[in-house]
Amino acid sequence: MALHTAIRTPADQAGSGWYELLPKPPPPRVLEGRRRADWVVIGGGFAGMAAARRLSQLQPGARIVVLDAQRIGWGAAGRNSGFMIDLPHELASDNYAGGRDHDIKQIRMNRAAIEFAASAAAEYGLEPHFIRAGKYHGAATERGQRVLAEFEQHLSSLGEPFEKLGADDLRRVTGTSYYAGGTFTPGTVMIQPAAYIRGVARGLAGKADIFENSPVVSIKSGPAHTVSTPQGEVETPRIIMTVNGQVESFGFFRCRLMHIFLYASMSQKLSSSQMSQLGGEDYWGLIPADPLGSTVRRFGDRIVVRNSCTYNPSMRVSEDLVKNFGMAHDRSFRERFPMLPDVQAEFRWAGHLCLSLNSVPAFGEVGQGIYSACCCNGLGTVKGTLYGKLIADLAAGSGGPMVEETLSEAAPRKLYPEPFMSLGAKAKLWWLQRRAGREM
Ligand SMILES: Cc1cc2nc3c(=O)[nH]c(=O)nc-3n(C[C@H](O)[C@H](O)[C@H](O)COP(=O)(O)OP(=O)(O)OC[C@H]3O[C@@H](n4cnc5c(N)ncnc54)[C@H](O)[C@@H]3O)c2cc1C
Repeated sequence: MALHTAIRTPADQAGSGWYELLPKPPPPRVLEGRRRADWVVIGGGFAGMAAARRLSQLQPGARIVVLDAQRIGWGAAGRNSGFMIDLPHELASDNYAGGRDHDIKQIRMNRAAIEFAASAAAEYGLEPHFIRAGKYHGAATERGQRVLAEFEQHLSSLGEPFEKLGADDLRRVTGTSYYAGGTFTPGTVMIQPAAYIRGVARGLAGKADIFENSPVVSIKSGPAHTVSTPQGEVETPRIIMTVNGQVESFGFFRCRLMHIFLYASMSQKLSSSQMSQLGGEDYWGLIPADPLGSTVRRFGDRIVVRNSCTYNPSMRVSEDLVKNFGMAHDRSFRERFPMLPDVQAEFRWAGHLCLSLNSVPAFGEVGQGIYSACCCNGLGTVKGTLYGKLIADLAAGSGGPMVEETLSEAAPRKLYPEPFMSLGAKAKLWWLQRRAGREM
């Protein structure tokens, strides 16, 4: 018998534009009293929804309970930029590329995850929020163009299609002359993240009992585990933890996960005259040549800019930090869209990202009947979906080659002792963001 008490539970601040644009959800169903379940999935983001959906396919009729500390879509799942990227996306590398064999495997797995998400989108009528649009990489500097040339070479060596773009091609799509060149790759799906994740939760009605605003505060493990929230508890033989970096709060993978916050701003609605001043296409998503640059996305009559990141082992950020980074977003917006001088940001937010030093997930059985699919290392819309599905396969005993491949990865490497870890991580982020220069 062991008791895992959560030393903290998530408390993301209000402000995600993706969430705010959606109609107000019905009141939350909060866990109250005692109940029994065959499965408890803790966390209702990409990994949690994929795990619950996969369990419902593998064991129709099983009693599946999903517990989320917040509203579905309130956490990182509804705060991200919505790029479901099929290609390598190594944030720790200079140009997103990894080793050849690693990347071939990663592409295969990413595509399997995207198809799993696509089947959910089709089954639950979410196609308007799930668009096979491809993505643009934009380079604003000579260094950025060199980085893109390396990335293109890497894609050629992998036999992956891409289109090389000049400044005019990018201007025709985005309306801005900011970029000197770019690369288009066709396999990315663009989602409205909060709409997608909430839609999957709705689609699971009748197959899983989803409780929101129900933070798990402790897990008492034994032959039957007891999962407790402030107002209720569930007895279950099997638990799947899909709580992203919060898995560390329960004492698992301690000192092995890095907690990063990313910041984004969404513009107010553009008027039709502002849209014609801007020109370009209505829907596109562009990631920067430098992984620490600005991601920019036009979503009909709104533009989203994401840049800046901080290292926050406490997993909390202040409202002031969100405001300060808003200034960096405004600067990036003005530089790219000088034809829209009056457009202000309407929403600003921060969101949590979990990384490990060796870019591997916190995946596998971490205690008898307790499984973890956490820490996505950046491409969490895809990898969260992937690991969530695979952990359900593993826990339900259905296995498969991708489960084996994921299990064969090393464990997340131990972080350096404090204060060296924090000092080093902050200095590195500062340097990388400075180096990104005009890509930001
Ligand atoms: C600004 C920003 C932009 C990003 N852009 C992209 C992008 O374009 N593409 C991409 O692929 N990724 C992107 N990401 C990363 C992506 O959002 C995450 O990697 C992804 O959400 C991880 O999915 P997950 O299911 O593992 O975790 P999460 O989405 O974080 O879900 C975990 C859930 O667990 C719940 N939880 C935690 N603790 C408890 C507890 N004690 N009890 C109950 N519930 C709990 C949380 O409330 C949360 O809902 C971005 C992230 C940010 C912040």
